[in-house]
Amino acid sequence: MTQPPTDPRTLLAQALHYTDPATGAVTPPIHMASTYARDGNYDLIAGASYSRPENPTYLSVERVIAALDGAAESLTFASGMAGVAAVLETVPRGKRIAAPTMLYHGSRVALKRFAETRGLGLDFYDARAADGLSAVLAKGETDLVWIETTLNPTWEVLDIAATARAAHAAGAALAVDATCTPALTIRPLALGADIVFQSATKYLGGHSDLVAGALSTADPDGPRWQAVRQVRTLNGGVLGPMEAWLLLRGMRTLALRWERACDNAHAIAQHFDGHPALEGVLYPGLESHPDHAIARRQFTGGFGGMLSLLVKGGGGGGDGGGKDETGFAAAKRVATATRLIIPATSLGGVETLIEHRKAIEPPDSPVPDNLLRLSIGIEAVADLIADLERSLDAR
Ligand SMILES: *Cc1c(COP(=O)(O)O)cnc(C)c1O
Repeated sequence: MTQPPTDPRTLLAQALHYTDPATGAVTPPIHMASTYARDGNYDLIAGASYSRPENPTYLSVERVIAALDGAAESLTFASGMAGVAAVLETVPRGKRIAAPTMLYHGSRVALKRFAETRGLGLDFYDARAADGLSAVLAKGETDLVWIETTLNPTWEVLDIAATARAAHAAGAALAVDATCTPALTIRPLALGADIVFQSATKYLGGHSDLVAGALSTADPDGPRWQAVRQVRTLNGGVLGPMEAWLLLRGMRTLALRWERACDNAHAIAQHFDGHPALEGVLYPGLESHPDHAIARRQFTGGFGGMLSLLVKGGGGGGDGGGKDETGFAAAKRVATATRLIIPATSLGGVETLIEHRKAIEPPDSPVPDNLLRLSIGIEAVADLIADLERSLDAR
């Protein structure tokens, strides 16, 4: 490898200027081997011994993710949730975790389960309240604060530097889920976060064809990261070589995909802001968004491809049925009326997805009944707007 380029778009496109030393290939090989031979001195031939602790294909991906995140080290996992679990495993019994009430559903469930089974305290706080976090931080007791760069699926934006300062003052570490905003727009480690988590299934992979997770740190020698490494090796949630290779392939076009998704989402948010069929559009790039100012300050390369629509209770027009005033039913009708936009979970792929979140989350979820989450892809934006307009008529 020659001198790595510094603009992240360049380093992504070239996968850190990769050239295979053995063949000159400009893309990395897929190393399927599970085990590695030793030489006449019984030394490992190239350092790798077994593909659970390390596999050359996922090491290639980890180097690219680390460079992108501005991290000293990154580790990949078999899924995003395996990475989340590895962080939660580092919290000692009896300590507490703090997290916003509005949060990716899977993380909320994982936090609750860890707290229950490991004897941890768990404090959910209202991120909208000025003293939300400080009210629950317990000095010496809170071990970890877990936040998201944009709270899923309402897209509130938290001040990461302020959160890091508050967490550190209480003796806690800050982990930031940056799944919805890759390092092309924000680098939480530079703002004081201790660990950055990403579901690489989403924007990094970008094609809805793999499941993977990644953690990044600026402090690879600290005890928490050492524990994360050990958990990955011992619990074995490592990324397979095929997925690692697909992830690296996907990341080479991340910059283009991200720019297009941001442009499309911004145009859609602006188009539907104030639409008569909607109570609101949740997108941090809109000036009407309550966190627009902080979003402008923190997101230096676009507001992202994620937005949510709050649907007004409709007239039951879609199924020709009777009057139905609930937003839940109206949102469901819209989500099932699209022709281009695909009704499916997940996000960050090249294709636009729509999801009625409340229909798939438990009744105690804080997500509004009438919320439709959209992951905007890279299609022609006029087609997406036309499809949404048509679908909103079904409300
Ligand atoms: C998808 C997702 C996860 C979990 O990642 P998987 O790859 O599905 O295991 C965590 N956080 C957020 C914000 C996500 O969107």
